[in-house]
Amino acid sequence: MQTDYDVIIVGGGPGGLSCARHLSGSGLRVLILEKNDRLGKKICSGEVSSKTFPGEMANFQNIQEWKTVVVGTHKGTVPVTYGKPFLWTVGRYELESFLKSRCDADVHFSEPVIEITEEKVTTSEGSYTYKYLVGADGSFSKVREFLRLPTHHIVGWAYHYVVDLPAHEFRVCWLPKIFPRGYGYVMSKSLGKTMIGGAIGKPDSDLISKKLAPKVKEWVKAEFGLDTAKLKSEGMRGNADYRGWKFGNKWNVFLVGDAAGLLNPVTTEGIYYAVKSGEGVAKHIRGDAEGKKIMSKMANTHRAQVLLFDIANTWPFYWIVHWILENPKGMIRGKIFDWVFWKFMDR
Ligand SMILES: Cc1cc2nc3c(=O)[nH]c(=O)nc-3n(C[C@H](O)[C@H](O)[C@H](O)COP(=O)(O)OP(=O)(O)OC[C@H]3O[C@@H](n4cnc5c(N)ncnc54)[C@H](O)[C@@H]3O)c2cc1C
Repeated sequence: MQTDYDVIIVGGGPGGLSCARHLSGSGLRVLILEKNDRLGKKICSGEVSSKTFPGEMANFQNIQEWKTVVVGTHKGTVPVTYGKPFLWTVGRYELESFLKSRCDADVHFSEPVIEITEEKVTTSEGSYTYKYLVGADGSFSKVREFLRLPTHHIVGWAYHYVVDLPAHEFRVCWLPKIFPRGYGYVMSKSLGKTMIGGAIGKPDSDLISKKLAPKVKEWVKAEFGLDTAKLKSEGMRGNADYRGWKFGNKWNVFLVGDAAGLLNPVTTEGIYYAVKSGEGVAKHIRGDAEGKKIMSKMANTHRAQVLLFDIANTWPFYWIVHWILENPKGMIRGKIFDWVFWKFMDR
C-alpha cells in the first residue's frame, strides 16, 4: 500500500473533492482520507446557486429548481417568485459523486484521521506522509485542531426534524423572538426529504439541547401542526470563524470550506465556499497565482458577510430586517429585498 503522498486531503466533502479535482492531472500523488464509508452523508440541504458549478448544471440529473422563496416573519409568510431559478437542490450524494468522478486521487473511505504531525497523518488503518496537507474536514476539523486555531467567533447551530416527503417549498423565516441570530427554515434534505427547523448563531455547545431544540419543537408544532414525537431530528454545527487559509512552518498546511470557517454566517450557505476554496488551494499548490487571488477574494467576501451578520443582529437592525421581510414585494422593500437576495445568490 502506498503511504507517501504529495498532498493529503482530510475529508471527502465538497471542499476536499473540489481540491482533488483541481489537482487532477498535475502529476502530484493525492490521497483523500474520509471517515465515512461513502459519499454524501453530511446533514445538509444540498442546495447550490448558479455560481457553484458555472456551466456544469447540466451534469446533474433529477435536480429540483427553486424559483419561489417563501419569506416568513412574526407577521406571517409571503411567497416571492422570480422568472429564473435561484437555487437547485442537487443532493449531497449526487454533488459529491460528480466531483469525485473528476478526480484522479486515491480515496480511502472509512479511514478517520486520528493524529496529525508535521510529517504524517495517522488514521485507523495506518500512517501516510505528506508534503502538503489540506484540512477539508468540516466544522469539527482535526486539521484545524492540529493548527491550534480556536473556533468561537461565529458558530451556527442548526436543528431540525426530517419529514419523509419531497420539499414543497423553500422557506426562510426571520423570527428574532424565537431564533435570535438565526432563522427558521423549510428546505429539502437532499432529494426526496424535507428538513423543518431552526438555526441559531452563538458559541455555546450546550445550545442545541438546552435552547434551540425546545424552540424548534414548539415552532414546528405551532406553524406546521406536525407531531414531532414521530419525526427523526438532527442537529449540526457550522463554522464561520475564518482565521486564514495557509499555515504551518513551511506554509504547507491549508484549510478549506467549513474547516477554514468560510461558511456564510448570514445564510449558512457553505457548499459554494467549500468548492471554491478547494479550487483556490489546489491552484496555489500547483503554483498558479490564480489560487491566491481566489482565496483573497473569499476572505474579503467572508469579512463582508460577518459584518452584515453582526450588524443584522443588533437592535434596531434586527427589526429593520423584519420590517423589510414583512413585505418583500412592496415598492421600496421589494427593491431592497431583490437586490440583497440576488447578491447572495450570485456572489
Ligand atoms: C442543516 C444544514 C443545511 C445546509 N444546507 C446547505 C445548503 O443547502 N447549501 C449550502 O451551500 N450549504 C448548506 N449547508 C452548509 C454546508 O453543509 C457546508 O458548508 C458544506 O458541507 C461544507 O463543505 P466542506 O467540504 O467544507 O465540509 P463537509 O461537507 O462537512 O465535509 C467534511 C468531510 O470531512 C469528513 N471528516 C470529518 N472529520 C474527519 C476525520 N477526522 N477524518 C476523515 N474525514 C473526516 C466528513 O465525514 C465529511 O465528509 C447546510 C448546513 C447545515 C447544517
